[in-house]
Amino acid sequence: MSHHQKILLDHGGGGKVSHDLIKEIFLPRFNNPLLMELDDCAIFKLGKSRVAITTDSYVVDPIFFPGGNIGNLAIYGTVNDLVMRGARPVYLSVGFIIEEGFDLSDLEIIVLSMEEAAHEVGVLIVAGDTKVVSKGAADKLFINTSGIGIVETDMDISGHNARIGDNIILSGTIGDHGVAILSQREGLELEGSLKSDCAPLNGLVFDMLGVSSNIHTLRDPTRGGVATSLNEIAIQSNVGIKIFEERIPVKDEVLGACELLGLDPLYIPNEGKLVAFVDPKDIDKILHTMRSNKYGGDAQVIGEVVADHKSKVFMKTRIGGTRILDMLIADQLPRIC
Ligand code: MG
Repeated sequence: MSHHQKILLDHGGGGKVSHDLIKEIFLPRFNNPLLMELDDCAIFKLGKSRVAITTDSYVVDPIFFPGGNIGNLAIYGTVNDLVMRGARPVYLSVGFIIEEGFDLSDLEIIVLSMEEAAHEVGVLIVAGDTKVVSKGAADKLFINTSGIGIVETDMDISGHNARIGDNIILSGTIGDHGVAILSQREGLELEGSLKSDCAPLNGLVFDMLGVSSNIHTLRDPTRGGVATSLNEIAIQSNVGIKIFEERIPVKDEVLGACELLGLDPLYIPNEGKLVAFVDPKDIDKILHTMRSNKYGGDAQVIGEVVADHKSKVFMKTRIGGTRILDMLIADQLPRIC
């Protein structure tokens, strides 16, 4: 990375360019074993407890969208990153960066939905910060959230732990969040009433952990979509990943919008979905449990971990071909979360 280069939107897109920025600029300076895991949150020992920590910033545009707003999105997103390693979310901090001139009544609506989201999950917001910048120095409202959780199982759920033979479960339809945001932003009239899937996944994950101790990897496929998350896991675990296009649930409205806009649902962010890598011997009870939860009703086995194609993801297409699925290269959808 040349130092004459400038930051581009792609650097925040969650795909290959973001990963390169992290690898070349941040990791060499902030180098430590906990950070180097590159999981959804870091887990460390504090006294006798295993504690999890994560942080996220939200810059979604528009700040109100079908199915949510920047406030509950921030709470759910941070909670979900804790939950993806089996941690029970306990405390959050929230930081607001507000543009001068922002409507106080909009702020009240957002804060109320954050309170409701925190209550639903069972977390407390115990620290916060407010900054106001002059008009034009930020766009309306940005929120940073950090979360602390506690790991009460002795399981080690991590992107590094996918094993050959694991079944890969996707908890539901893909692309809903990204397409809902984009259609609002672009003023597209979609068939039906597509909403963001933004949701807390703590209940779903703890239901799953209640029936199986053979869950190896969990990830919420946010920026970069399912294809990017699977690539991250293939690299972290040094395995091959094989998925079947026909098994991936996608709503008709999402498919239609993707065709219209030239987008691939596999690369579109989700905010209430997860992928799980599990031992096939527990697949029936895990699937049954997921489908009984309101956030896992459409859970499907979409593929498996294989010994060949190490660090790569490939897909059997509907027409019987094989396609290599790369990480997201260019950011198709800036400011989606
Ligand atoms: Mg995540």
